[in-house]
Amino acid sequence: MTTFKLNTGASIPALGFGTWQDADAQENAVLEALKAGYRHIDTARVYGTEPAVGRAIKKSGIPRDQIFLTTKIWNNKHHPDDVPQALQDSLNDLGLEYVDLLLMHWPVAFKRGDELFPKTQSGGPDVVDTDYLDTYRAMEKLIATGKVKAIGVSNFSKAEMERVLANATVPPAVHQLEGHPWLQQRGFADWHKKNGIHVTHYSPFGNQNEIYSREGTIGRLIEDPVLVEIGKKYGKSAAQVALAWGVSEGHSVLPKSKTPERIRQNLEGDFKLDQEDVKKIRGIDRKLRFNDSSEDFGYDLFKDLDGKK
Ligand code: NAD
Repeated sequence: MTTFKLNTGASIPALGFGTWQDADAQENAVLEALKAGYRHIDTARVYGTEPAVGRAIKKSGIPRDQIFLTTKIWNNKHHPDDVPQALQDSLNDLGLEYVDLLLMHWPVAFKRGDELFPKTQSGGPDVVDTDYLDTYRAMEKLIATGKVKAIGVSNFSKAEMERVLANATVPPAVHQLEGHPWLQQRGFADWHKKNGIHVTHYSPFGNQNEIYSREGTIGRLIEDPVLVEIGKKYGKSAAQVALAWGVSEGHSVLPKSKTPERIRQNLEGDFKLDQEDVKKIRGIDRKLRFNDSSEDFGYDLFKDLDGKK
């Protein structure tokens, strides 16, 4: 299994298992994934899948130190005073003593409290002005508690990343962002490499997630003819080639599935493509971003990045 080194010195497996959506199916799915050989699981407070992930880890009998577990702080817990308890709530649901990686899920802060999506009187998102830097500083303090081995962010723009890095005592270990052959963000990826920040791709199958419907017919990433053709050379599917592309770029990838057969197939997306094939895939970057919650969150996300509509 391919692994990468984080700037903390820890290893992170290239192939991780996503757990967003289908909360009821996740205990079985994660158990299946662990049995198949995944050792990197991605969850988040807002997915509601932490209890299922925790139960699956326990049932698997796999020693804790062999699993890389990521969770994320949700937007309603950005106030620095709320961050330690937010982590503790996640740990309690997971039934774990520590997480390998704690991410700030988005740069935007919602009203403090237990509502995940607080609304203003007019029905819009209740956004508050807690600075993500203050949230990040509270996350830095968690490292000394031993409950968090590494910290990072998700869904930040380049300007936001530069600001975090310029002010951090502990540089982010990971940036989790949308990445696939149709949204390669190579300039941004290079920036991370230069600064020692590991990139993890979410939605590695592009528009395969059902909620990412877009107007018109753009086809499905996992049927892209270039990926299909390259797959023939290795005896792999286009979906597996999409994953292998991320791994070959030095990134982790987080496919999600609740189907045992696909869970196993996706793990076989951990292989190295020849440089000539990586080059071919570079030619199909359509700069299509499928996950942009700017409107729902009342905050202009990804301002300076590819695929911003
Ligand atoms: P994905 O790209 O993994 O696609 C998932 C969909 O693809 C599933 O609905 C499944 O039906 C289908 N699929 C899975 N394997 C397949 C195969 N081999 N062939 C054909 N279809 C297949 O999408 P995702 O769930 O959006 O992203 C993966 C994970 O990334 C999430 O579960 C979550 O853990 C993480 N994520 C994080 C953020 C964030 O804001 N940080 C956002 C989105 C996702």
